[in-house]
Amino acid sequence: MIYLDANATEPVRPEAYEATRAAMALANPYAIHAMGRAARRVLEDARDAVARCLNAKPADVIFCSGATEANLLAMHALGEGQRILVGATEHDSVLGAVAGVGIIPVLRDGTVDLAGLEALLIAEPGALVCLMAANNETGVLHDIAAAAAVCARHGALLHVDAVQAVGRCKQDWLGMGAASVVVSGHKAGGPMGAGALVVSAGREIKADLRGGGQEMGRRGGTPALPAIAGMAAALGGAYDAVKIAMYRDEIEAFCAGVGAVAMGAGAARMANTMCLALPGVKAQMQVIALDMAGFAVSAGAACSSGKVVESHVLLAMGAGELAGQAIRVSLPWNVSADVVPAFCNAYEAMAERALHGRARCA
Ligand code: PMP
Repeated sequence: MIYLDANATEPVRPEAYEATRAAMALANPYAIHAMGRAARRVLEDARDAVARCLNAKPADVIFCSGATEANLLAMHALGEGQRILVGATEHDSVLGAVAGVGIIPVLRDGTVDLAGLEALLIAEPGALVCLMAANNETGVLHDIAAAAAVCARHGALLHVDAVQAVGRCKQDWLGMGAASVVVSGHKAGGPMGAGALVVSAGREIKADLRGGGQEMGRRGGTPALPAIAGMAAALGGAYDAVKIAMYRDEIEAFCAGVGAVAMGAGAARMANTMCLALPGVKAQMQVIALDMAGFAVSAGAACSSGKVVESHVLLAMGAGELAGQAIRVSLPWNVSADVVPAFCNAYEAMAERALHGRARCA
C-alpha cells in the first residue's frame, strides 16, 4: 500500500517513535519523587520545544489530548461571553465546537474573504475570530497576517488552527498577532493523542477540564507524556517542501491531462496537498478504486462513520457538484520520487474506467 493520506495523519518519524518509547518508561510527571521529577523534565523539555517551534514562551504552552480539545479550549476560554466567528472552511472541531457561531465567507480559491471578515467585525466588534492556517482538504493557506490586521482594527481576538501547517510552512502566527494557536502531534509525525494550545504572551486561560490542576490549572488530567514527548521530537523534524511541491505539481499536471480539476490550486497552498475533482465521478468510487490499486487517499470529507459526504470546504468555495467528486491526495514527509509515476498510472486507469464506462465499481 502506498500511503498518500498525510493530512489524516503523518507517518510517525523515527525520532518521535524513539522519544515516545523512552517516555513510556517514565513516572507521572506531576509526582514529587525523583522519578516524577525526571518525567517532569521530559515534559518541560517538550514544552520548550513546542514553544520554540511557535515562537512562544514555554509557560504559554498548554498540552491537551489533541487539536480537537485544544480548539474547544481556545474557543471557550477566549470566546467566553463574546460572539464567535469561524471561517466557512474550518475543520469540524472548530465549526461544530460551539453553537450559534457566525460564518466568515471564503473566496472561490478557498482563501478568507477579508472584506467579508471586516464587514462582520464592523457589525460585531470584539468577536473571537477563528481561522485555520492551512486547510486540511485543499492545503489552501489563509493570509493570517492580513486577517490579524483586520481583527486588530476591530478589537477582535484571532485564534489560529495551525494543525496542518505546523512543520510544513514556516510562519510565526503569534508574531502576526494571533491570540492563540493550536497544534496536533500526529499531523507533524508524532503519535496520535497529543496536541497543544499556545497562547500569546501570558494570556490567561480558564480550564475546561479542571481535574487535578495540572498545566498550571489550565488543563487538568495527567498529561499523555509519551505522546507529548513524541510530538515535541516530531516538530523538530526536517521537511523538504520544495521537493514535495515538485512531486505535487507533477501529479497535478498529469491528472489535469486526464480530466481532473485541482481545487484551490490558484491560491497559496501547502506543498503536500492536492484536492482533485473528477467531474461526474463520485469521490467514494475514486477512493475505493485507488484503494484497490494500492493507494491510500481520502475523499474531501469522510465523517467518522466512514461515510463520504459532500465537502463543506468545496461547497463554501462554490464548487457545486464537484464538492462530492473530489479526492484528497496528501503526500507524507517521507514521500519518494517513485510514488509520482506509480500514482499517475493508477489515477489514469481509475479515471479511464470511471469516465469511459468500463468501471467495475461504479
Ligand atoms: N484541525 C485540523 C485542520 C485538522 O486537520 C484536524 C485533524 N483532522 C484537527 C483540527 C483535529 O485534530 P486532532 O486529531 O488532533 O484532534
